[in-house]
Amino acid sequence: MKVTITDQCMGDRNCNKLCPEIFEYDEDALLSIVKMDAIPDHLQDVVRRAALECGADAIEVEE
Ligand code: SF4
Repeated sequence: MKVTITDQCMGDRNCNKLCPEIFEYDEDALLSIVKMDAIPDHLQDVVRRAALECGADAIEVEE
């Protein structure tokens, strides 16, 4: 699985709270970023949930 965040991110940091292992807020870019290229198996469900919950629809998941 690969995850990207588009520039539609509105910076509410919901994904950071759900899965801080993967998502981090970039204070300079004013949007969240993905910390790893490949998402480990045990974090994939929470990453899918973060994508569903993202109010800006900014998290793109590639299975
Ligand atoms: S949940 Fe969506 S809008 Fe909020 S910080 Fe994460 S990517 Fe950005």
